Amino acid sequence: MLKGLKNSSARPVARHLPTRVQRWGSSIVLGCWLCIAAGGALALEFQGAWRQGGLLLGTVEPGTEVLLEDRAVKVAPDGRFVIALGRDAPAQVKLTTRVSGVESSRLFSVERRSYDIQRVEGVPQETVTPPESVLDRIREEAALVYRARSDNDPRLDFAGGFEMPLEGPITGVYGSQRVYNGVPKNPHYGLDIAAPKGTLVRAPAPGIVKLAHRDMYFSGGTLIVDHGYGVTSTFIHLSDILVNPGDRIETGDAIAKVGATGRATGPHLDWRMNWFDVRVDPALVVEYFPYQGKPYRGQSNQQTQPRELPDKELTQQQTANRSLP
Ligand SMILES: [Zn+2]
Repeated sequence: MLKGLKNSSARPVARHLPTRVQRWGSSIVLGCWLCIAAGGALALEFQGAWRQGGLLLGTVEPGTEVLLEDRAVKVAPDGRFVIALGRDAPAQVKLTTRVSGVESSRLFSVERRSYDIQRVEGVPQETVTPPESVLDRIREEAALVYRARSDNDPRLDFAGGFEMPLEGPITGVYGSQRVYNGVPKNPHYGLDIAAPKGTLVRAPAPGIVKLAHRDMYFSGGTLIVDHGYGVTSTFIHLSDILVNPGDRIETGDAIAKVGATGRATGPHLDWRMNWFDVRVDPALVVEYFPYQGKPYRGQSNQQTQPRELPDKELTQQQTANRSLP
């Protein structure tokens, strides 16, 4: 169903990285990367795509501290942790581990991708060049989205893998440079799946709803689900949202309906994934971490207490750079 991706922006998957595995929850996956750090018997294993837009699940000895460049990464009690590579990630990234006062660093190569230019005509002009009067609103909505992606909940909800939230033709891919009504804009970070208005969107993995907003300026009906350790899914242009902030959802739950709200030319689902502020390619996630179990089709309404998040002011530059969540 993702075949269409191959001939547009995605280069062939790096087969030399034996990362296709069963479930993150299963026992340590053989065939993964194994490297012994210079400092001693420190095992570092990864599964995922060492490509721009890739999400990676790492495993270290429990109790090890991990840093991606200068960024501290939370490690689960069992030694698992998540990192991600942005659309324009450099050719090499540095990972540092610290255990019992011994620090070791290692460089990892990142496969570069080439991205298409995609021209989109016929979106409402006020969503391409927003009038002055809506800039405050845009800034406030961007801050809500930022906060919804800021939690670092120690939940391994992503560990069972991901399935597509619905089936349909892929009409937009991650990373492409977008030109709306002739005006160059930010890259497109989602996976667009065309479907009739009202088609049910199902949870690709378990999680907790962090944001449900019916009417954002650019993205229309917007839903953010937190899968734990900073991994989130964002669904936009929705015509309806069937869950509320704080709801616990399971894989396959109906969570929203497809629409064409916000900056859209027709009904489709735009599914985005993040690791905190880092944009991840959902197509790579589904490919490398496929959902293995049977979809759970019941509704789960277990409530959890939403957490208070500190306000985070976005700079003018961040606001200007931001178009869709
Ligand atoms: Zn889109």
